[in-house]
Amino acid sequence: MIQAAEIVKLGDLHFEPFLMSETIDEAVQKIAGQINRDYNGEEVLLIGVLNGAFVFMNELIKQLEVSLEIDFIKVSSYDGMNSSGELALALDFKNDIKGKNVILIEDIIDTGLTASRLLKMASCLRPRSLKIASLLLKPDSLKTQVQMDYVGIEIPDVFVVGYGLDYDQKGRELPMIYKLYQED
Ligand code: 5GP
Repeated sequence: MIQAAEIVKLGDLHFEPFLMSETIDEAVQKIAGQINRDYNGEEVLLIGVLNGAFVFMNELIKQLEVSLEIDFIKVSSYDGMNSSGELALALDFKNDIKGKNVILIEDIIDTGLTASRLLKMASCLRPRSLKIASLLLKPDSLKTQVQMDYVGIEIPDVFVVGYGLDYDQKGRELPMIYKLYQED
């Protein structure tokens, strides 16, 4: 049984612990190891997808042993818990990704629509190579086929917060990942 003290209240919703720090750290290490192996001796441009990916990106770069450039784009496609389906870029790709090894850094792939649109937009700018890394993936929620190069943890179709992920801009600072708490 879940102790009340472990439950976090954000706005009108309650969330319960789901992925502990050790589990998340292992996933970050796994992805970092794969990137270090795949890009050994090469330069990589990491492009974090704001806002959610900033914590994952911050932890990932500490483990990378490749020569890095770091940039961000900003997407606002999520309003509370409803994916609008529309992709608005508040901060766009820069043209200087041409000829570079680019890895998009995502917090979570849910329907896959954001990732597939971002990959399409980035590929138009002719990077040398283009991959995507996501800390979390909800395989049961996918609505489109999407390229997935580095995935940390597969989770069921639950709404999660913490470690950069928000509920209406709250909860990003939580050091582990919580899922929506539903009393049954
Ligand atoms: P997709 O386009 O794959 O449906 O959604 C991608 C974006 O939706 C993610 O980058 C994230 O901002 C948001 N998102 C999807 N699932 C969740 C979730 O469970 N929790 C939170 N906080 N955001 C989510």
